Amino acid sequence: MQVTVLGCNAAFPRAGGACSGFLVDGGGAKVWIDAGNGTFANMQRVASWRELDAMIITHGHADHISDVLPLMYAMGLDDNPRDEPLPVHAPAEAEQRLRALLGGGRSSELFNKVFAFQPLGGDFSVKGLSVRPFRTEHPIDSYGVRLSADGRDVVYTSDTAFFPDLPDACAEADLLIAEATYVGEVSADGGVHMWARETGRLARDAKVKRLVLTHIWATFDPKQAEAEARESYDGPIEAATEGNVYTV
Ligand SMILES: [Zn+2]
Ligand SMILES: [Zn+2]
Repeated sequence: MQVTVLGCNAAFPRAGGACSGFLVDGGGAKVWIDAGNGTFANMQRVASWRELDAMIITHGHADHISDVLPLMYAMGLDDNPRDEPLPVHAPAEAEQRLRALLGGGRSSELFNKVFAFQPLGGDFSVKGLSVRPFRTEHPIDSYGVRLSADGRDVVYTSDTAFFPDLPDACAEADLLIAEATYVGEVSADGGVHMWARETGRLARDAKVKRLVLTHIWATFDPKQAEAEARESYDGPIEAATEGNVYTV
């Protein structure tokens, strides 16, 4: 299984960066997970939208859904369109927020034509890639996902505060892509995101084989996030950067 980082910042991107997104290639399927602003441009460096088998949107926050709309125009006005709409697995709230942005008219017709939205929650497969969503601790309906193919597991936490069942959801993953929004003693509301030290403890307790930090606040130093996660976890750690490819 291969995971390409399309974007790794929280809320807003640093100069030249992008918000959350990953392209997963596994079990013969190409699946785009989260479409933060800037991710569509980066995805086209490695794949065409025509090659996508499915999309997963973990929740309806803008830094995870923004680039669904440019994808809609690319697909809807394509000279060489796909035969079937693209399956998009997403919480209902994410779909509603995207529809509200469109405001009806021709764009809404395109939206209905190119996408087949399906509620995210239960297990499903895309070709040989198995997807197991789990609910996270975040202010709106939000999910992480465990992706399995060819005997390998990748877990992406998406946005979440730490919660007691999280290590189980991430247990023994070959690759854990976990959010580490904050570093140091930064103060922020609880119940929304994790600090890098919490992410390190999560990786340790879940006994994962490799940790990639993502959803890093654009003004924080990713090297600091790595160092703080390393205080608890002694496996390989790396902060995500657009274009990085992880093979498990
Ligand atoms: Zn986010
Ligand atoms: Zn969020």
